[in-house]
Amino acid sequence: MSTVHVDGSLGEGGGQVLRASLALSMALGRPFRMTSIRANRPKPGLKRQHLTCVRAAQQICGAEVAGDSINSTEICFAPGAVRPGNYCFDIGSGGSCTMVLQALVPPLLVASGPSRLTVTGGTHVPFAPPFEFLRDTLFPWLAKLGPRLSAHMDQPGFMQVGGGSITVEIDPVPALQPLDSCEGGAFVGATGHILLCNLGADIAKREKAALLAENLRVLGLTEKTIHIETKSRSVEGLGNAVLVTVVRESGVTVCTGIGQLGVAAKSVARHAADRARSFLRSEVPVEKHLADQLLVPMALAGSGTFLTEKPSLHTKTCMAVLPLFMDVTARAVQLNARAWRITLS
Ligand code: ATP
Repeated sequence: MSTVHVDGSLGEGGGQVLRASLALSMALGRPFRMTSIRANRPKPGLKRQHLTCVRAAQQICGAEVAGDSINSTEICFAPGAVRPGNYCFDIGSGGSCTMVLQALVPPLLVASGPSRLTVTGGTHVPFAPPFEFLRDTLFPWLAKLGPRLSAHMDQPGFMQVGGGSITVEIDPVPALQPLDSCEGGAFVGATGHILLCNLGADIAKREKAALLAENLRVLGLTEKTIHIETKSRSVEGLGNAVLVTVVRESGVTVCTGIGQLGVAAKSVARHAADRARSFLRSEVPVEKHLADQLLVPMALAGSGTFLTEKPSLHTKTCMAVLPLFMDVTARAVQLNARAWRITLS
């Protein structure tokens, strides 16, 4: 099979180009060469999370790989057959576990047997899906394509220190079903979850107050539907996340704020709640972060369609990577001020 050339500076020009390419290469058995890896980032090249993706993918499909070193801006990846099974991978930093899984899960959805993967690193880090998004949003949507999936967080892990771990189990199907999701469905309700590790309880109190604020009444959060989980001792590092879960007839969407030094607790909670409110207002079934994460599995099904919010640069990037590896056309059409239809055919 001919080698695909992927320009890593495409679109977003970040780690997603690499993860989508690895997933497609493994699933389709197509070798690729990627240049200018993460060219649009302040520190380009492979960081620990990205290198873990490459090495884990190599292990799962017995690939021949060149250029797999830290800060490398070019790799060659020639996959062998996907070997489902039990695997453990350690990022060795607070790099995101769910991002590593983003590269590995799609080919295992159609593998010849079940798999169990444990990834150690960060479970709640900025600009990445938190564990709850993987378990409650992404996996139930992937299950609509046919496979059965489950996820368990053994331990949370935060920026820099990491040390958290996530285990997922995948029971594949011979072929994925196309997704057809065009109805947002009625709003069932929302819940709040505040996760606090080795930090003062006053932070959670301020976050809870922010979630209960008057202008967020549309979410219907109450004292009883906001849960505070405090961890100490067993977990290394400091960490805080606010998760607002929106339940619609079409599915569950986890919206996130990640606590960071110098960011007020109120702003962390507002970030999650504003995302939830804006998604709810759009009346579409697929939240904007979910959109880019559905595209590779959907492409492996051959076709599909869904309504979503305004496509992010991540979504546009993924749409541009797909046709490099397979005969598929990805289109986004605006339907109204808040809704777009994405179709793969
Ligand atoms: P870099 O861009 O620095 O290379 P990266 O590899 O860590 O970093 P990106 O390419 O920016 O990552 O990809 C981010 C991914 O995380 C996208 O799939 C995006 O949808 C997802 N994501 C970001 N924030 C959230 C969130 N709050 N909830 C769910 N998913 C998220």
